[in-house]
Amino acid sequence: MKVKLIAQIAPFVLPVWETKIKIHSMENQTDIKKVIRQHGEMETFFSGGFTQKSPAQIERLRPAVENTEVAAKLEKLSAKVGKCRKCGLGAERTNAVPGEGNSNAQIVFVGEAPGADEDAQGRPFVGRAGKLLDKIINAMGLQRQDVFICNILKCRPPGNRDPKPDEINSCLPYLQKQIETLNPEIIVALGAHAAKTLLDTSETIGKLRGRFHEYVTSPGREPVKLMPTYHPAYLLRNYSLDNRRKVWDDMKKVLDELNLPILPK
Ligand code: SF4
Repeated sequence: MKVKLIAQIAPFVLPVWETKIKIHSMENQTDIKKVIRQHGEMETFFSGGFTQKSPAQIERLRPAVENTEVAAKLEKLSAKVGKCRKCGLGAERTNAVPGEGNSNAQIVFVGEAPGADEDAQGRPFVGRAGKLLDKIINAMGLQRQDVFICNILKCRPPGNRDPKPDEINSCLPYLQKQIETLNPEIIVALGAHAAKTLLDTSETIGKLRGRFHEYVTSPGREPVKLMPTYHPAYLLRNYSLDNRRKVWDDMKKVLDELNLPILPK
Protein backbone atom coordinates (compact mmCIF):
# COMPACT_ATOMS: atom_id res chain seq x y z
CA MET A 1 0.00 0.00 0.00
CA LYS A 2 2.84 2.37 1.06
CA VAL A 3 4.80 1.57 -2.11
CA LYS A 4 1.77 2.32 -4.25
CA LEU A 5 1.23 5.68 -2.51
CA ILE A 6 4.89 6.70 -2.97
CA ALA A 7 4.72 5.77 -6.65
CA GLN A 8 1.63 7.97 -7.03
CA ILE A 9 3.03 11.11 -5.34
CA ALA A 10 6.66 10.84 -6.52
CA PRO A 11 6.14 12.65 -9.86
CA PHE A 12 4.80 15.68 -7.93
CA VAL A 13 7.23 15.72 -5.00
CA LEU A 14 10.55 14.98 -6.74
CA PRO A 15 10.58 18.06 -9.03
CA VAL A 16 10.05 20.27 -5.93
CA TRP A 17 13.01 18.62 -4.17
CA GLU A 18 15.14 18.94 -7.31
CA THR A 19 14.26 22.62 -7.59
CA LYS A 20 15.16 23.17 -3.93
CA ILE A 21 18.50 21.39 -4.38
CA LYS A 22 19.21 23.47 -7.52
CA ILE A 23 18.34 26.75 -5.75
CA HIS A 24 20.51 25.76 -2.76
CA SER A 25 23.49 24.96 -4.96
CA MET A 26 22.99 28.21 -6.93
CA GLU A 27 23.00 30.13 -3.64
CA ASN A 28 26.24 28.39 -2.63
CA GLN A 29 27.76 29.23 -6.01
CA THR A 30 26.69 32.85 -5.62
CA ASP A 31 28.30 32.94 -2.15
CA ILE A 32 31.54 31.48 -3.50
CA LYS A 33 31.50 33.91 -6.44
CA LYS A 34 30.90 36.79 -4.02
CA VAL A 35 33.85 35.75 -1.83
CA ILE A 36 36.12 35.38 -4.90
CA ARG A 37 35.00 38.78 -6.23
CA GLN A 38 35.54 40.42 -2.83
CA HIS A 39 38.99 38.88 -2.58
CA GLY A 40 39.92 40.12 -6.06
CA GLU A 41 38.63 43.61 -5.28
CA MET A 42 40.52 43.61 -2.01
CA GLU A 43 43.76 42.71 -3.80
CA THR A 44 43.28 45.49 -6.32
CA PHE A 45 42.16 48.09 -3.86
CA PHE A 46 44.74 47.63 -1.17
CA SER A 47 47.75 46.61 -3.22
CA GLY A 48 47.58 46.63 -7.00
CA GLY A 49 45.46 49.77 -7.05
CA PHE A 50 48.15 51.72 -5.25
CA THR A 51 51.78 52.10 -6.06
CA GLN A 52 53.97 50.21 -3.64
CA LYS A 53 56.62 52.28 -1.94
CA SER A 54 60.20 52.21 -3.12
CA PRO A 55 62.62 50.18 -0.94
CA ALA A 56 64.24 53.44 0.19
CA GLN A 57 60.93 54.77 1.47
CA ILE A 58 60.05 51.54 3.21
CA GLU A 59 63.44 51.62 4.88
CA ARG A 60 62.74 55.09 6.31
CA LEU A 61 59.55 53.94 7.95
CA ARG A 62 60.67 50.48 9.00
CA PRO A 63 62.21 50.43 12.44
CA ALA A 64 65.86 49.51 11.90
CA VAL A 65 66.43 47.41 15.00
CA GLU A 66 64.42 45.99 17.85
CA ASN A 67 64.69 47.85 21.13
CA THR A 68 65.84 45.07 23.43
CA GLU A 69 64.91 46.93 26.62
CA VAL A 70 61.37 47.58 25.37
CA ALA A 71 61.12 44.01 24.03
CA ALA A 72 62.00 42.62 27.47
CA LYS A 73 59.37 44.79 29.15
CA LEU A 74 56.73 43.73 26.62
CA GLU A 75 57.67 40.10 27.12
CA LYS A 76 57.21 40.45 30.88
CA LEU A 77 53.81 42.05 30.34
CA SER A 78 52.76 39.25 27.97
CA ALA A 79 53.70 36.68 30.61
CA LYS A 80 51.46 38.50 33.12
CA VAL A 81 48.58 38.52 30.62
CA GLY A 82 49.09 34.80 30.07
CA LYS A 83 48.37 34.13 33.74
CA CYS A 84 45.69 36.79 34.22
CA ARG A 85 42.28 35.90 35.67
CA LYS A 86 41.17 39.44 36.50
CA CYS A 87 37.88 38.96 34.64
CA GLY A 88 35.72 35.98 33.71
CA LEU A 89 37.20 35.74 30.20
CA GLY A 90 40.42 34.32 31.64
CA ALA A 91 38.70 31.06 32.52
CA GLU A 92 37.12 30.65 29.06
CA ARG A 93 40.07 31.35 26.77
CA THR A 94 42.21 28.78 25.00
CA ASN A 95 45.09 31.24 24.77
CA ALA A 96 45.55 34.79 25.93
CA VAL A 97 46.41 37.17 23.06
CA PRO A 98 48.63 39.91 24.49
CA GLY A 99 49.71 41.32 21.12
CA GLU A 100 52.86 41.18 19.00
CA GLY A 101 55.12 43.20 16.79
CA ASN A 102 58.20 45.35 16.64
CA SER A 103 59.46 46.74 19.93
CA ASN A 104 60.59 49.82 18.01
CA ALA A 105 57.31 50.28 16.15
CA GLN A 106 56.21 53.75 15.16
CA ILE A 107 52.64 52.63 14.61
CA VAL A 108 50.52 50.58 17.03
CA PHE A 109 47.26 49.09 15.71
CA VAL A 110 44.67 48.47 18.44
CA GLY A 111 41.60 46.33 17.78
CA GLU A 112 38.72 45.19 19.94
CA ALA A 113 39.29 41.60 21.15
CA PRO A 114 40.59 38.24 19.93
CA GLY A 115 38.26 36.07 17.83
CA ALA A 116 38.22 32.29 17.40
CA ASP A 117 41.38 32.12 15.24
CA GLU A 118 43.28 34.43 17.55
CA ASP A 119 42.15 32.49 20.64
CA ALA A 120 43.32 29.24 19.01
CA GLN A 121 46.75 30.62 18.03
CA GLY A 122 47.41 33.15 20.80
CA ARG A 123 48.21 35.78 18.14
CA PRO A 124 46.30 38.96 17.21
CA PHE A 125 44.56 39.49 13.84
CA VAL A 126 45.27 36.13 12.20
CA GLY A 127 41.76 35.41 10.84
CA ARG A 128 40.01 36.88 7.80
CA ALA A 129 39.99 40.40 9.26
CA GLY A 130 43.67 39.95 10.07
CA LYS A 131 44.45 39.11 6.44
CA LEU A 132 42.77 42.36 5.42
CA LEU A 133 44.75 44.28 8.05
CA ASP A 134 47.94 42.73 6.60
CA LYS A 135 46.94 44.03 3.16
CA ILE A 136 46.30 47.51 4.53
CA ILE A 137 49.70 47.48 6.25
CA ASN A 138 51.37 46.25 3.04
CA ALA A 139 49.63 48.93 0.99
CA MET A 140 51.20 51.44 3.39
CA GLY A 141 54.60 50.11 2.38
CA LEU A 142 55.10 48.15 5.58
CA GLN A 143 55.23 44.58 6.77
CA ARG A 144 53.33 43.22 9.74
CA GLN A 145 56.58 42.81 11.69
CA ASP A 146 57.28 46.55 11.37
CA VAL A 147 54.31 47.58 13.51
CA PHE A 148 52.78 46.45 16.80
CA ILE A 149 49.30 44.86 16.79
CA CYS A 150 47.13 44.27 19.84
CA ASN A 151 43.60 44.58 21.24
CA ILE A 152 41.70 46.27 24.04
CA LEU A 153 40.82 42.84 25.50
CA LYS A 154 43.48 40.15 25.68
CA CYS A 155 41.05 37.21 25.92
CA ARG A 156 38.22 36.19 23.59
CA PRO A 157 34.66 37.06 24.62
CA PRO A 158 32.50 33.95 24.01
CA GLY A 159 30.81 33.94 20.61
CA ASN A 160 32.68 37.14 19.72
CA ARG A 161 30.19 39.23 21.66
CA ASP A 162 30.98 42.87 22.45
CA PRO A 163 33.35 43.46 25.36
CA LYS A 164 31.58 44.31 28.63
CA PRO A 165 32.55 47.52 30.48
CA ASP A 166 33.90 45.62 33.51
CA GLU A 167 36.06 43.44 31.22
CA ILE A 168 37.46 46.54 29.53
CA ASN A 169 38.18 48.14 32.92
CA SER A 170 40.00 45.02 34.10
CA CYS A 171 42.05 44.61 30.93
CA LEU A 172 42.80 48.21 29.91
CA PRO A 173 45.86 48.64 32.19
CA TYR A 174 47.72 46.04 30.09
CA LEU A 175 47.15 47.99 26.88
CA GLN A 176 47.98 51.29 28.59
CA LYS A 177 51.28 49.80 29.78
CA GLN A 178 52.03 48.42 26.29
CA ILE A 179 51.48 51.82 24.70
CA GLU A 180 53.46 53.62 27.39
CA THR A 181 56.33 51.15 26.93
CA LEU A 182 56.33 51.32 23.12
CA ASN A 183 55.81 55.11 23.03
CA PRO A 184 54.79 55.02 19.34
CA GLU A 185 54.34 58.03 17.09
CA ILE A 186 50.85 56.98 16.03
CA ILE A 187 48.10 54.72 17.36
CA VAL A 188 45.54 53.45 14.85
CA ALA A 189 42.35 52.55 16.71
CA LEU A 190 40.52 49.89 14.71
CA GLY A 191 36.78 50.18 15.24
CA ALA A 192 34.39 51.78 17.68
CA HIS A 193 35.41 49.88 20.83
CA ALA A 194 39.10 50.69 20.49
CA ALA A 195 38.50 54.34 19.57
CA LYS A 196 35.88 54.99 22.24
CA THR A 197 37.89 53.27 24.97
CA LEU A 198 41.19 54.97 24.21
CA LEU A 199 39.60 58.39 23.75
CA ASP A 200 37.11 57.91 26.60
CA THR A 201 34.23 59.16 24.49
CA SER A 202 30.80 57.99 23.39
CA GLU A 203 31.12 59.53 19.89
CA THR A 204 30.48 57.12 17.01
CA ILE A 205 33.36 55.76 14.95
CA GLY A 206 31.84 57.51 11.91
CA LYS A 207 32.33 60.86 13.65
CA LEU A 208 35.71 60.04 15.19
CA ARG A 209 37.48 58.65 12.12
CA GLY A 210 39.27 60.73 9.52
CA ARG A 211 41.14 63.05 11.89
CA PHE A 212 43.83 62.79 14.54
CA HIS A 213 43.01 62.81 18.23
CA GLU A 214 45.38 62.80 21.18
CA TYR A 215 46.01 59.91 23.53
CA VAL A 216 47.78 60.70 26.78
CA THR A 217 50.07 57.88 27.91
CA SER A 218 51.27 59.35 31.19
CA PRO A 219 51.45 62.81 32.77
CA GLY A 220 54.33 64.91 31.54
CA ARG A 221 54.71 62.96 28.29
CA GLU A 222 53.75 64.28 24.86
CA PRO A 223 50.37 62.86 23.83
CA VAL A 224 50.43 60.25 21.06
CA LYS A 225 48.48 60.99 17.88
CA LEU A 226 45.56 58.59 17.48
CA MET A 227 43.76 57.91 14.21
CA PRO A 228 40.45 56.04 14.53
CA THR A 229 39.31 54.07 11.52
CA TYR A 230 36.91 51.24 10.70
CA HIS A 231 37.74 47.76 11.98
CA PRO A 232 38.75 45.37 9.14
CA ALA A 233 35.92 43.02 10.23
CA TYR A 234 33.42 45.86 9.74
CA LEU A 235 34.99 46.56 6.36
CA LEU A 236 34.48 42.92 5.33
CA ARG A 237 30.84 43.04 6.43
CA ASN A 238 30.22 46.38 4.71
CA TYR A 239 32.38 45.96 1.69
CA SER A 240 31.60 49.16 -0.20
CA LEU A 241 34.09 51.18 -2.21
CA ASP A 242 33.18 54.18 -0.07
CA ASN A 243 34.15 52.41 3.19
CA ARG A 244 37.41 51.13 1.72
CA ARG A 245 38.25 54.64 0.49
CA LYS A 246 37.59 56.03 3.96
CA VAL A 247 39.99 53.54 5.58
CA TRP A 248 42.63 54.19 2.94
CA ASP A 249 42.21 57.98 3.38
CA ASP A 250 42.80 57.50 7.13
CA MET A 251 45.94 55.48 6.46
CA LYS A 252 47.23 58.10 4.01
CA LYS A 253 46.91 60.66 6.81
CA VAL A 254 48.96 58.37 9.04
CA LEU A 255 51.66 58.14 6.33
CA ASP A 256 51.58 61.91 5.85
CA GLU A 257 52.06 62.41 9.56
CA LEU A 258 55.16 60.23 9.34
CA ASN A 259 56.35 62.27 6.33
CA LEU A 260 55.74 59.45 3.89
CA PRO A 261 53.50 60.70 1.12
CA ILE A 262 51.83 58.21 -1.24
CA LEU A 263 53.69 58.06 -4.52
CA PRO A 264 51.62 58.87 -7.61
CA LYS A 265 50.92 55.92 -9.92
S1 SF4 B 1 40.51 39.74 29.31
FE1 SF4 B 1 42.21 40.85 30.25
S2 SF4 B 1 41.60 41.17 32.36
FE2 SF4 B 1 40.28 39.56 31.54
S3 SF4 B 1 41.38 37.66 32.09
FE3 SF4 B 1 42.01 38.23 30.02
S4 SF4 B 1 43.90 39.39 30.32
FE4 SF4 B 1 42.85 39.32 32.30
